[in-house]
Amino acid sequence: MHELSRLPSTGDAARMNAVISQAANTDFLARRPAPLPTDDDRWAIFLDVDGCLVEFQPLPELVKIPGPVLQSLSDLQIALAGAIALVSGRTLDDLDHLFAPLVLPSAGQYGMRRRSADGVLHNVLLPEKQVADFVRRRAVETALRLPGLKVEDKGFSVALHYRTAPHLADAVAAAAAAIVAAVGDTYEVQPGAMVQEIKPTTCSKGSAVRAFLAEPPFKSRTPVFLGDDFADESAFAAVNTLGGLSIAVGVDRFTQAQYALAGPAAARAWLADVVVTLSRGSKQ
Ligand SMILES: [Mg+2]
Repeated sequence: MHELSRLPSTGDAARMNAVISQAANTDFLARRPAPLPTDDDRWAIFLDVDGCLVEFQPLPELVKIPGPVLQSLSDLQIALAGAIALVSGRTLDDLDHLFAPLVLPSAGQYGMRRRSADGVLHNVLLPEKQVADFVRRRAVETALRLPGLKVEDKGFSVALHYRTAPHLADAVAAAAAAIVAAVGDTYEVQPGAMVQEIKPTTCSKGSAVRAFLAEPPFKSRTPVFLGDDFADESAFAAVNTLGGLSIAVGVDRFTQAQYALAGPAAARAWLADVVVTLSRGSKQ
């Protein structure tokens, strides 16, 4: 385990929820369009997947990564000397399947499991198994009570998807909050797009980005993070603190991101432009 992956990130989601609710009535500032790298920039790019690199689908398993996107990512791997990583709520297995034949450095399940560029796997400190089992049991019970709710069992975390039953939003949020309240500080709710994820408090995308940046080939590069969801706010905050570029994709709510892209199609076009810009002679 990498030492940085042990750093506590307790309450990232809870803190963000507080920030978001405080800002709910505030007009968010028009953010600047995402810039392209200059010749002096040495970027490390971190990408969320669903709702950022590709559009949401009714079910996560229906998402496919288009061939030209795989080509852009492969080109970026070369242009950035390997400094490109996925940071997602999906599992590592799911990400590998989705992005095959590419094998990218990846953080899955909001950083619970992370694979460095050298292929080494890192886990954050996890709750006791009995607690995880309790959370999963309660999630399954909730699904029995709320037809249309789909439970995705990710081992130490569990996602409650209601994309095909949007009327369940309030009931699912209440159920997730009740499950978390029953296990003390061990778990927290990470709200997402048509999903409430119940995850250990030790995981966050911000921690995952910081852990990558402590290792080659990311070390000493300027972090650039693209994301769309509440879960991405911890990574936006980390990148802002580290002097990097935080880019919100298709976000029309309050966010800490400094830059914006209109949606996944704009994000894909921007990545293709980054490839072209880098291939014109910037020394990344
Ligand atoms: Mg997303």
